[in-house]
Amino acid sequence: MPLYPELRDKVLIVTGGGQGIGRAIALAAAQQGMYVLVNDLVGERAERTVQLIQEVGGTALAHVGDISEPDVVFRLVQQAVDEWGQVDVMVNNAGIEPHASVLEMPVEMWDRVMAVNARGVFLGTQAAARIMVKQRSGVIINMSSIAGKAIPLYQRSAYAASKAAIVGFTKEAARELAEYGIRVNAVCPGVIITPMTAAARENPAMMEKWKREIPLKRLGRPEEVAALVLFLASDGATYITGQAYHVDGGKVMV
Ligand code: NAP
Repeated sequence: MPLYPELRDKVLIVTGGGQGIGRAIALAAAQQGMYVLVNDLVGERAERTVQLIQEVGGTALAHVGDISEPDVVFRLVQQAVDEWGQVDVMVNNAGIEPHASVLEMPVEMWDRVMAVNARGVFLGTQAAARIMVKQRSGVIINMSSIAGKAIPLYQRSAYAASKAAIVGFTKEAARELAEYGIRVNAVCPGVIITPMTAAARENPAMMEKWKREIPLKRLGRPEEVAALVLFLASDGATYITGQAYHVDGGKVMV
């Protein structure tokens, strides 16, 4: 029994949906009866998410491309319109997290992180909003991080800057797009069990530190982030816009 029947037959796009949090969002949306367009940089990963959705009777299509490229993002949104006639929910989820100290970081690394994490969110918002303005409805959800709000991550200054940029961008986009019936919110996960955190999770000292700092005493599951995304897409959230919600086991309390 779907939790949000109002999402049935609506169209959701998720970037970076080939694994981790993006895949969990795609699967959760399909369980609600949504049509899902799954973007990823890696074709086989996007196809695998689509296959998993189809195996449980859902409807999904794959899209392969780099969401830091304007043409790619506009083609992504157009694919949803061509296939299903509308875009109801845009989840700008794709992100990268390379690390280097401030003293050592090559400028190319800074630029790439900002291009994928910040410019990609802007492009996805703009492309989807141009369709949603005509529909006079839509929901945009941008994947930030607690690193963009309050908690610096070791040697990830570019990542923190890009995730803070998403929070600021989300607020102004929400203000500008409200008159068209479009809501824009950000989600800020804590430490979630995905391929992105796989290397750090192999470090016992790091695991110990996380458990000490997280009141719920465990890392998060991708499904727990997807649950917040679906709520924000649902009619339960019709009066919520311009917010950035933590889903982090209580690590950040502000
Ligand atoms: P993940 O496991 O690395 O999955 C992200 C997916 O996005 C990967 O398949 C990745 O491909 C793809 N991707 C990267 N750059 C892309 C691009 N330019 N265009 C299209 N796809 C691209 O990451 P995750 O842990 O699921 O994280 C998803 C989002 O949540 C990210 O924005 C991340 O910053 C955020 N987040 C995660 C955590 C966490 O603890 N996991 C915490 C806070 C926030 P490649 O692997 O080839 O790059």
